[in-house]
Amino acid sequence: MFENTYQDIELTCEDCGTTFVFSAEEQEFYAEKGFATPKRCPECRHARKKQRFSNRKRYTVNCSKCGAETTVPFKPKEGKEVYCVDCYKAAKEQEAAAAPVVEEAPAE
Ligand SMILES: [Zn+2]
Ligand SMILES: [Zn+2]
Repeated sequence: MFENTYQDIELTCEDCGTTFVFSAEEQEFYAEKGFATPKRCPECRHARKKQRFSNRKRYTVNCSKCGAETTVPFKPKEGKEVYCVDCYKAAKEQEAAAAPVVEEAPAE
């Protein structure tokens, strides 16, 4: 006979107030890993993780054109040119001027 000390319990999400099931298996897993009882539903946890991930994944580089410090969401390859927002925009504008494309005008 297995001694099952865990039972499915219902928890309320701290963020959105949704009730979610913290299953016996999850409880066992969390206990094994030494995690604290989750305060948020899986959806909010996922959203937070994603947010943290996107916040963390920025690299500080110096613009290849003007030398200004900027951040990019990808790891710049060595020898590859990286531009700051201004230079990137300028480059894009030049590109657009060279090969005009119809773009929606921004609403004022
Ligand atoms: Zn939630
Ligand atoms: Zn620049």
